[in-house]
Amino acid sequence: MRPFRPEPLTDFSKEENIKAIKDALENAKRNFGKRYPIIINGKEYKTDKVFGSFNPAHKNELVAEFYAAGEKEADIAIESAWKAFEFWRKFPAEERAGFLFKAAEVLRRRRFEITAWMVYEVGKNWVEADADVAEAIDYLDYYAHQMLELAGNRPLAHIYGENNEYFYIPLGVVAVIPPWNFPLAILTGMTVAAVVTGNTVILKPASDSPMMGYLFMDIMREAGLPDGVINFLPGSGGSLGGYLVKHPKIRMIAFTGSKDVGIWIYEEAAKVRPGQKWLKRVIAEMGGKDAIIVDNEIDEKDIPFIANQIIVSAYGYQGQKCSAASRLIIVEDVYDKILSAVVEEAKRIEIGDPAENKFMGPVINESSEKKILNYIEIGKGEGKLVFGGEKMRGGIYDEGYYIQPTIFADVPPNAKIAQEEIFGPVLSVIKAKDFDDALRIANDTDYGLTGSVFTRNREKIYKAKCEFHVGNLYINRKCTGAIVGVHPFGGFNMSGTDAKAGGPDYLLYFLQGKTVSERL
Ligand code: NAP
Repeated sequence: MRPFRPEPLTDFSKEENIKAIKDALENAKRNFGKRYPIIINGKEYKTDKVFGSFNPAHKNELVAEFYAAGEKEADIAIESAWKAFEFWRKFPAEERAGFLFKAAEVLRRRRFEITAWMVYEVGKNWVEADADVAEAIDYLDYYAHQMLELAGNRPLAHIYGENNEYFYIPLGVVAVIPPWNFPLAILTGMTVAAVVTGNTVILKPASDSPMMGYLFMDIMREAGLPDGVINFLPGSGGSLGGYLVKHPKIRMIAFTGSKDVGIWIYEEAAKVRPGQKWLKRVIAEMGGKDAIIVDNEIDEKDIPFIANQIIVSAYGYQGQKCSAASRLIIVEDVYDKILSAVVEEAKRIEIGDPAENKFMGPVINESSEKKILNYIEIGKGEGKLVFGGEKMRGGIYDEGYYIQPTIFADVPPNAKIAQEEIFGPVLSVIKAKDFDDALRIANDTDYGLTGSVFTRNREKIYKAKCEFHVGNLYINRKCTGAIVGVHPFGGFNMSGTDAKAGGPDYLLYFLQGKTVSERL
């Protein structure tokens, strides 16, 4: 078996790849508006409640419709998942991993098709959507490899007169609750981590990206995964999601999303309800208020590169990444220079339809647009608006949720726009007295997900390594774009439980250890 290697990204400068994605986009469009079922134990279910998934770039374009599952379907799914658990937990780890390797192959083959649907469903450009699909392939491959390493007995010390064994077993039925912003990658990662470790899953996709969940189910079915191992339940977060969280027969919740929902889930899951025989396990990966620090000890010639990395971190996928840079902390000696380089770079950003692969597209939906615009209004009172600050208007922009990339300068570190997660293209620039002050400001939020430091001073790099309290610290590079198996991902403090997705310890969250001692 070949060792794990991250999936290469598609080169969209090549004619053949441009043609392939354009064909896939056309094909997806021809299939818009179809209605998709709930899937429990391999059977399709319909309800009298239907909801739509719309293209954020053209808000009236219905991408697909879904039957919404309610409590009745959740009960059936949980029962089916427990039945499936009885056989699935006994599958040898090698066979479970085999389904993931196979699914990775299917996804490689269907890469352009899935990328195209993602472009339409969540407004990612080709490059961002392709990277999301590559990450999903990586999760399949990487967790399969990891499971093979964890299978069998773990090493123990020997004592005379006894045979001792220690090995891992699965937990039971896991509710997987992913966000829409990495609609295939995160959904795939959490689900297949549960599955490869021998658990069965109730998968509730985010309401803004159910099509990605459906296509994932299709891929797993094509890979031959037995019915009932994953059960697909689209539906509302508040009602269906809440019901799953509180359900006494759910053994574990794997959640990625906002801080508020994560905290709520953590609290509710802690309550032991009638009929519940365990303490629920929860992993909750949540938001960020990620900072890039630019020190005064940088090379003049590096400034264009630094500005580019800041722009990519802040505005890639419209700033809708948990890892996105939303604070830029600059040491005062170089403040004006860096700020003006960043503003100049921002002027070059192309904004438009992600289906045409423009760098920036729309934000996900109307309520998100409103929230971001509201923060921009707050920002106008807290800092100095130096770029953007408006909704995009006219032509195609009126058809979707387009917001200008926005930069506020001279923002006080304790301002609302410097403390709260704004899930959109808004960057707050803060002046620091020196490097220590910059670190202090960077650490002074409730979050601790990603961060970058630009400096040429090795002592400062070492200091950042020790003192910058983030789960993913980057030196002299952008703070987004973690790669499975290369940059295990997850944050501190209110950024979540730091389960480190795509890392060597992740699968352990889905397992429990069993010790067997036999007297000889
Ligand atoms: P969200 O609103 O918290 O939703 C996440 C998921 O939770 C969705 O499936 C949602 O369903 C569901 N949900 C909502 N309320 C629920 C409830 N009461 N009980 C159970 N489930 C519930 O977050 P989002 O807007 O999708 O995603 C953006 C957030 O995710 C940002 O804060 C971002 O920083 C964070 N994020 C973190 C990471 C990380 O690794 N740390 C990665 C990606 C994103 P509906 O869609 O149906 O509401």
